[in-house]
Amino acid sequence: MRNQKSYICEKLGRTLNFLPDKVGFCCSAAEGTGIEYIAGNLLNIKKITNAENKYIKMLKFGEIPKECFGCIDYKEKTYKNLFEFLFSKSKPFLVNEIIVNHFKQCDCNCIYCAQKIIWGKDAGQNYELLPIIKELYKKKAIDKNNLKVEFQGGNVSVLKEFEALLREFLLNGCTKFSILTNGIKYLHVIEEITKHNNINLHINISLDSGTPETFEKIKRVNAFEKVVNNIKEYLLKTNAMITLKYIIIKDTNDNKTEVESFLNIVKELKFIKSICFDIDYRDIMLDKNTKFKIPAHYYELIEQAEHFCRENNINCTTVEYAKQYMKKNKQLQNSQ
Ligand code: SF4
Ligand code: SF4
Repeated sequence: MRNQKSYICEKLGRTLNFLPDKVGFCCSAAEGTGIEYIAGNLLNIKKITNAENKYIKMLKFGEIPKECFGCIDYKEKTYKNLFEFLFSKSKPFLVNEIIVNHFKQCDCNCIYCAQKIIWGKDAGQNYELLPIIKELYKKKAIDKNNLKVEFQGGNVSVLKEFEALLREFLLNGCTKFSILTNGIKYLHVIEEITKHNNINLHINISLDSGTPETFEKIKRVNAFEKVVNNIKEYLLKTNAMITLKYIIIKDTNDNKTEVESFLNIVKELKFIKSICFDIDYRDIMLDKNTKFKIPAHYYELIEQAEHFCRENNINCTTVEYAKQYMKKNKQLQNSQ
């Protein structure tokens, strides 16, 4: 039909990622597509859809917006004919994924913290999200039957609106939640809501270590035992699905002994059914020109965990972006 390439991104028109200074249109945080936060404009759905349509149009006409460079989510799209290309309508704006990410306060101080690197150590909270969510429901901009809410942050235990937001989503029938927390403070509300509601709640905790010493080096707080005990409580008192994460950080936890201690903790916490590996954000995402070469032992550490998980019937994954980066790195190294 046409020689020109055309692209599509399924996130556009579906995801709202509330950040401290903008509302993003996908999960890519600071650098992804979005509209700048100016008091009041986040309640203006017309402004949001206009801004999204600009990106949808650029992709359709084969132009990759600079905010999307390097992203793995846009896909090539082919149209049967010129008519279809010109007149195909994009789906109406209906949000099925909300990311609560507008606050950056936290009660620990991880060395790899992207939040602090991007928004500054003391970045707080510029606006309240609850009135915006209420307005989105009122304007029927949320796909109530399919909504998934992800609490990122910061750490939700210091977000004043956390419980109120959670209850607002529950009140409107939302059943899918995911919460990222450092696990230092036990969230009683999780116990309460999982008892009374048929919800699918996923808690993601980055332990990144198997010993208190390494934990403290990474998190810069002395709270290893507390976190492990809180995980035990969640497993005992809630039906939340818990994933323990291990972010590989060079010269810190990138050794077999530490991974083995981590896996021992996983074994001790009998009902952990899922672990996830990642690579330090500062190495593979922060500076796109750095071209960090993944050391061979990173692959071995993940294999070590995969082997353990196969034997213990645990799901072992690697964050998609890190997986893609590792794959490309291996191909590059093999071709040299
Ligand atoms: S292509 Fe990537 S960066 Fe661009 S809108 Fe989609 S998810 Fe966001
Ligand atoms: S728990 Fe998360 S928000 Fe808190 S310091 Fe660590 S990475 Fe940053």
